[in-house]
Amino acid sequence: MFLINNMDIKKLTIDKIQAAYKAGDYSCLELTKEYLKAIHADETNAFISINDHVLDEAKQADQLLGTDQATPLTGVPIAVKDIILVKDQKSTGGSKILSNYIASYTATAVQRLKDAGMVILGKTNCDEFAMGSSNENSHFGPVLNPHDVSRVPGGSSGGSAAAIAANLTPIALGTDTGGSIRQPASFCGITGVKPSYGRVSRYGSMSMTSSLDQIGPMANSVKDTAYILQVMAGFDPKDATSLKTKSNDYLNILEQDPKKLIIGIPKEYFSDNIQVDTKQAIEQQIEKLKSQGFEIKEVSLSYTDYALAAYYLLMPAEVSSNLARYDGLLYGLEANKDLSLDEWYKTVRSTGFGAESKRRIMLGAYILSAGYYDAYYKKAQKIRTLIKADFAKVFKEVDILLTPATPSTAFKLGDKVNDPVQMYLSDVFTVSANVAGICGLVLPVARDANDLPIGMQLLADSQQEEKLFSLGNYIENLK
Ligand code: GLN
Repeated sequence: MFLINNMDIKKLTIDKIQAAYKAGDYSCLELTKEYLKAIHADETNAFISINDHVLDEAKQADQLLGTDQATPLTGVPIAVKDIILVKDQKSTGGSKILSNYIASYTATAVQRLKDAGMVILGKTNCDEFAMGSSNENSHFGPVLNPHDVSRVPGGSSGGSAAAIAANLTPIALGTDTGGSIRQPASFCGITGVKPSYGRVSRYGSMSMTSSLDQIGPMANSVKDTAYILQVMAGFDPKDATSLKTKSNDYLNILEQDPKKLIIGIPKEYFSDNIQVDTKQAIEQQIEKLKSQGFEIKEVSLSYTDYALAAYYLLMPAEVSSNLARYDGLLYGLEANKDLSLDEWYKTVRSTGFGAESKRRIMLGAYILSAGYYDAYYKKAQKIRTLIKADFAKVFKEVDILLTPATPSTAFKLGDKVNDPVQMYLSDVFTVSANVAGICGLVLPVARDANDLPIGMQLLADSQQEEKLFSLGNYIENLK
């Protein structure tokens, strides 16, 4: 496995794949078949479904390769988180309520990648409607971490992260509402990017928290995430929150020296609650960058402590209204047609949603109810404004913030399922970026004492993704 014509296909990147196609080492069809073989033998439960048309797509790509219609992404395989729609393919959102749902249209982000020639292998497992930090909330069973199958891959894009780490695909899409790309990237030792809010169209991504959600790339290298974002990014009239500004150039920047970037270290992200190995690994990276001549400044984000609390008020409020659409009347799970309307709703929603979705729907309905709206929702919105202002102030002084991605490396399956608050704490370093609408990148930098990957996070102001790619690529090549 993982060999074609004696060529190793582990940890593939876009450049390596294109070089292999050009040299005639293997075709897109051969590569796709090998990935399918690996997916069928996979023990991590990373995929929910396979694209029935994938071999035809691969053959078409082979015909385009070498012609002037080929792009750098032609024939590059990709997996898509099952919360993102791909026309005529099962799209479940990790939920029983949509377990038989076939999408009637394709998400804009996916369409742009398809138009560039990418080949969709299939749909990856995820927490139900992207709610979770461990992938244990999927109706299709938990995903296991390829580095240690007794541990979680992170969530909610755990299937996408595990699929890359297990060499089942070189690239995957995830969604990030509070850390769901970055936290699993960190746990699985791959690279993941949460773009600025509005940078990538949300059209065709099932809404969890509309004011926080973003689709983003996950891959084996920083450069690959830049390639993918470059194609996905940009205005889409079908998404009212899509940014009208043109996206910057994410690839040419990789050739430039990032030393002029000033790096900020927010002291609130280095408390004693972090696992020792993680803290040491990040501090070592900071020392390395200092010795390379980077200007590094300590900064303060004084509202950091409130970000998680604000997130866990804003998020369920929006979840409760977004998930109201799943009632089984137009699509999804159905109930006995003889039931009254009320009984129908009750049956479909109580059997269709898992425990975490129900918890958040109830919490959100409570937060938005008369009498509590001002006390909780409005207050959380005010905190959101303060957190945004905090970042805006700091980004006047520095270009990039450098932090740990998560307080610990991957934890054991079952360890936190019965303690939601402990589970929520694993997002403590990632949620602020969503609350403020800025962009972030996580890349692997070290291993802990158990040989589990440790991720480092870089944050930049809204629409400054090129800074993440520039510094991220430099750090990746420093190792
Ligand atoms: N883990 C967080 C949550 O459960 C983030 C989810 C996400 O980013 N989709 O809400």
